Amino acid sequence: MRPIQMVDTRTQYGKIKKEVDTAIQEVLDSAAYINGKPVQDFANSLSQYVGVKHTIPCANGTDALQIAMMALDLQPGDEVITPSFTYIATTEVVALLRLKPVFVEVDPRTFCMDPAALRKAITPRTKAIVPVHLYGHAAPMEEIMAIAREFGLYVIEDNAQAIGCDYRFADGSVQKTGSIGTIGATSFYPSKNLGAFGDGGAIFTNDTELANKLKMIANHGQQKRYYHELVGCNSRLDTIQAAVLGIKLTHLDAYNKARKSVAAYYNEAFAVTEKITTPFVAAYSDHVYHQYTLVLNDVDRDGLNSYLAEQQIPSMIYYPVPGHRQQMFASFGLTTADMPTTDWLTERVISLPVHTEMDEEQLAYITSHVLNYVNQ
Ligand SMILES: *Cc1c(COP(=O)(O)O)cnc(C)c1O
Repeated sequence: MRPIQMVDTRTQYGKIKKEVDTAIQEVLDSAAYINGKPVQDFANSLSQYVGVKHTIPCANGTDALQIAMMALDLQPGDEVITPSFTYIATTEVVALLRLKPVFVEVDPRTFCMDPAALRKAITPRTKAIVPVHLYGHAAPMEEIMAIAREFGLYVIEDNAQAIGCDYRFADGSVQKTGSIGTIGATSFYPSKNLGAFGDGGAIFTNDTELANKLKMIANHGQQKRYYHELVGCNSRLDTIQAAVLGIKLTHLDAYNKARKSVAAYYNEAFAVTEKITTPFVAAYSDHVYHQYTLVLNDVDRDGLNSYLAEQQIPSMIYYPVPGHRQQMFASFGLTTADMPTTDWLTERVISLPVHTEMDEEQLAYITSHVLNYVNQ
């Protein structure tokens, strides 16, 4: 059996090596390492794929979130509502900009922002909402957008884990996640569903004025070279990364399909036991399985994690410490009493390998060992 990895970007690269190597060689020959033609080409293709008017490429997903928040003219102390059950980048940039992250609970089935908790958290200082499409499942955007309209709030979608995910509205219309809010932010970190060979990120919007501002902020606040109208930052997607991403984007649907078949295999294997809750997929959402995350019932989760490691099966806890209990936010004084669902999930989740290069032998090996452990 091939060794099992949490992600296998090397095998994935092997299958598109010729195309990718040629594209990288072209960048090297052109020497246009910064803002070469592949950057705009990729941005255009991605706009078309996601279904937005504007895509602003940037250096990474964290920058994408930061630049999005910088463009909204928020004032220090303004409140931004986000889930605690997410990767730290989502909430860290809020604090970095001297805004106040207000943590809310998630729906324990979807791991995404709970609209009822969101509504309760709104105060006169609330300016923005940052829903996260965690693990590749969409947050309930229709309800979130309705609340945002009601209270006049901005919505920044953290789409780092869900590129390619379809969202179905009540009227039957479908839009990609990242294209629904005021602004969408995504990451091309190598292990993401659309991963570069290094860092990368992008910002989406349908608002042309906002797009110009986002573009300026990512480029030292300038439109005209050396004339700096706004305080911005330096956040660019390298030409080499854009060239790689342009090719990988043409495979993204196939990659997400491969992830879905891994999930389907796991779902069927784990249906035999009540001790494992497999990922829930809401009627409004597709699932692109950036992670395949189980909730364990009456199982020693850390014991399973160690047992699998002994069998050469990697598994991960995403994330071992939720935002509200991170030391960087200790001054908020939040405890389990404030976020019981988040802490409950944090103790019970475990993510199994899911990527585009898994074979049935590996899946059979993983599922039989997981079942061995939970049924002992
Ligand atoms: C990966 C990720 C980010 C940040 O992306 P980077 O490119 O690593 O900066 C932000 N939010 C979520 C939910 C992520 O998974």
